[in-house]
Amino acid sequence: MTFSDLGLRAELLRAVEAQGYTTPTPIQLKAIPAVLQGGDLLASAQTGTGKTAGFTLPMLQRLAGGPRPAKRQVRALVLTPTRELAAQVGESVADYGRHLTLKSHVIFGGVGQQPQVDAIRAGLDVLVATPGRLLDLQQQKHVDLSKVEILVLDEADRMLDMGFIHDIKKILRVLPEKRQNLLFSATFSNEIQALAGKLLDDPAMIEVARRNTTAELVDQAIYRVDREKKRELLAHLITEHDWQQVLVFTRTKHGANRLAEQLSKQDIPAMAIHGNKSQSARTKALAAFKTGDLQVLVATDIAARGLDIEELPHVVNFELPNVAEDYVHRIGRTGRAGSEGQAVSLVCVDEHGLLKGIERLIKRDLEKRIEPGFEPDPNARPEPIENGRGKRGGGGRNSGQGQRRQGQAAGQRRGGDEARAPRRRRGGGGSGSRQA
Ligand code: AMP
Repeated sequence: MTFSDLGLRAELLRAVEAQGYTTPTPIQLKAIPAVLQGGDLLASAQTGTGKTAGFTLPMLQRLAGGPRPAKRQVRALVLTPTRELAAQVGESVADYGRHLTLKSHVIFGGVGQQPQVDAIRAGLDVLVATPGRLLDLQQQKHVDLSKVEILVLDEADRMLDMGFIHDIKKILRVLPEKRQNLLFSATFSNEIQALAGKLLDDPAMIEVARRNTTAELVDQAIYRVDREKKRELLAHLITEHDWQQVLVFTRTKHGANRLAEQLSKQDIPAMAIHGNKSQSARTKALAAFKTGDLQVLVATDIAARGLDIEELPHVVNFELPNVAEDYVHRIGRTGRAGSEGQAVSLVCVDEHGLLKGIERLIKRDLEKRIEPGFEPDPNARPEPIENGRGKRGGGGRNSGQGQRRQGQAAGQRRGGDEARAPRRRRGGGGSGSRQA
């Protein structure tokens, strides 16, 4: 099966060819015909499956093939949870649409709004946006969404996790009632099902296997180590094995900053990427990491979501995630495109419950290792897991839940500071700074 078998028009086939794709991925095989037919779609797919082309190609084809309004107006709206994902989707729209005459633009918070307002005013067919900034501009009457024909919610589960449901609902209210809705989500929590139930009309359902669920291409190992020795062990592993491109996950923004600073002091170039960083700092860190100039990128789960870093050789869980599913997301970044990857988790006595939850989810026991010189203290006592809230005062609804949170439904998860950030900053100078 090729892209031309899917009925895509010549301009799109040329663009796909220029990308070097020869065979559609499983999600593309299913999504492209479904979207071309014009119905709604509910798709379960993660980053890395080729889902972006799966909705972008047929979306562009429908826009290019339909009747053209006299004046250019937003006919397709793609909502994404993060700036990085918006930028990536925007790039795909531009790449795949390069031989068409459609115009697209990406808008997100954290940067000045004037260039975005100017681009909208100049006329757009496709708008890719994060919900907060879009709503801001819509409320200021800079953008007219009343002619949207196709709505895409990309990584809808993350948008809900990040507290965007109210913004999304407000956006839905200003869209025309009759339109095509495409919903992509990696998980199907009760909230996602409720949203899908309201939003979608008799949708085609597509599910593609999670990549790396069983992680054949990823060599996974657990290093048992004391809480206080994790940083030293990480530096030791990086140096000892000469790991050149390492994505490290921490549970909190504060932890990410601290770790990046400490590694840098030990001559291991590292930068942190998370929701409190400015857009330019994040873009800079990501670019340096992708080119190999930056050895270590330390990220929180939400900030890392949607980063398209291909063929990443090493992922380190400096701390295990509170939600077992996030382990699968994290290690899914290694071994892309058929290359082998290695995922290492540093696990202290506090995290044994989390580890059990992960092993249950992936249905296998992970190999446990002890690095000579870093033997854990057999008498160490577990302590509650810090989720980054204590320092902010006020605790919050999930305070002190630590390990008890594991195994909760996906939609109710995220006790960490990242999840709460968008809400907390609400009202403080607009939504510009709200995306993770
Ligand atoms: P996505 O899941 O949309 O983030 O895509 C993940 C990666 O796969 C991106 O780098 C795409 O450029 C790439 N990709 C998408 N479709 C194909 C394809 N049919 N063949 C090879 N690579 C692809």
